[in-house]
Amino acid sequence: MLSLLDLISAASTCPLYESWDFGNISEIGDSTWTKLPTLTSDALKKVTPLLAGSKPQAAETVYYSSGTTDEPKLIFLSDDDLQRIYQLCRRFSSVEGIDSHSRVMVLLPMSLWSVGKITVQGLLLQGAHVFPIDLHGDISIWNKLAQEIQPNVISSTPSVLAAWAPHYSGPPLTLVETTGEPLLYSERNSIENGFKGPVYDAYGLTECVVGVECESHTGFHYWPDAVHVEILDPETQETLPPGERGEIVLTSFLQKRLPIIRYRSGDLGRLLMMPCECGRELPRVFFEGRLQPAFNMPRGVQIEEADIRESLALAGVPQAEIFWKERPGSPAELVMDGIFKPTLEIKYKDIHVPEAKRIEEYMLSSIPELAELIYEGDVQLNVIPEV
Ligand SMILES: [Zn+2]
Repeated sequence: MLSLLDLISAASTCPLYESWDFGNISEIGDSTWTKLPTLTSDALKKVTPLLAGSKPQAAETVYYSSGTTDEPKLIFLSDDDLQRIYQLCRRFSSVEGIDSHSRVMVLLPMSLWSVGKITVQGLLLQGAHVFPIDLHGDISIWNKLAQEIQPNVISSTPSVLAAWAPHYSGPPLTLVETTGEPLLYSERNSIENGFKGPVYDAYGLTECVVGVECESHTGFHYWPDAVHVEILDPETQETLPPGERGEIVLTSFLQKRLPIIRYRSGDLGRLLMMPCECGRELPRVFFEGRLQPAFNMPRGVQIEEADIRESLALAGVPQAEIFWKERPGSPAELVMDGIFKPTLEIKYKDIHVPEAKRIEEYMLSSIPELAELIYEGDVQLNVIPEV
C-alpha cells in the first residue's frame, strides 16, 4: 500500500489538488490534515477529461464509475494501482473464508466497470477456483451455468441476486458475495433464503474500494493502511468522533495515478473502533443511506426525506434509517429491466414503537404521492424493525 508521503507526493503533481496546501502533515488525521479541503464528485468530473488527454507515464486502465448516484466518471488506474486493489480484494476474500476449496461463480460485468475484474483477481490471489461470467443473459441462463459450474460461492450485485434467488436451481452455497451497489435488508433476506448461504456484503466506490463484512455481519471492516475513513458533518465539514453519523469521506492508499484524498462519498455512515465479535481489531464503517434531501421516484415524483421523517416521527418513530434504491446502477441495470422494483426501505430501532404495519399505514396516509406509487405497483415499501 502507498505511504502517506507517497500519496501526498503523487497529489502534488495532480491538477485536482493544485490549490491544496499539504503543509507539514506528519500523520493522517493530524490537525493539518483535518484542515485540508475535501474532494467532491464535481471536482473529479472536471479534472478527469484533462487526464484523458494527457499521455500516461506507464500502462494504465481507465474505468467508468457505475454512475449509480450521478453521471459516470472516468477513473484512472495504473497497473501498480490495480495490483494494490487486487491485494485489498484478496483480504476481503480471506475475511469471508474463501480458500482453495472455493468454486466461485462471478456474475458481474467484466469490463467498463472495475468491480468484476477486481473481484476476480482478489479471489484468484486467495487461491479460489474462479468462473467469471460476464453479466448478461437471464435467470434461466444463470441457472444452467450454476448447474454446470457447481459453485459453492456466487458473487454478484444485490439486485441481480435478489431477482435470481426465488428461482435459483444450483447447488446450496457456503456464502454469497454482494458488491457494486447498496444491499437492502430485504434483499439480504431473499438472497439468503434462495441460495441457502450467508451474504457477505462489501462496501466501496469505483473511486475508492473500502471494506467487507465478517461473519458477525456488523459493519464493514476496513484496513487503515489501505483506506482512511473519516466521518464529517455534511454542513460544517467538521470531523465527527466515532459513533456519530455523518458523511463518509475517503482517502485511498491504493491509487497513485489519480490520487483520491478526502473524497466526499455522498454516503451517510458512522465508525466503530471497538474490537469486533469476530476477534478482529480492524475498525468498522457502517453504511446508513445516501446523503440526499429528496428521493427521485418514478413518474417524476419527488419526495423530501424531511417529509418521510416527519411522518415517521408522528407515527412514534423518532429515529430510523431510510434507504431509497432507485435503480440498481449501470451496467448491472441492463439485465434488471423489468425485474427490479424501486424500493423505499425504512429500518427502525426502538422496540417501544408501534408495529411495522401500522407505521406503514401511517406513512401512506400522510404522504399520498407515495401511497399512489405503491398502490400502482411502481414502488415497493419495506418497513422493517431492526432486531
Ligand atoms: Zn468482525
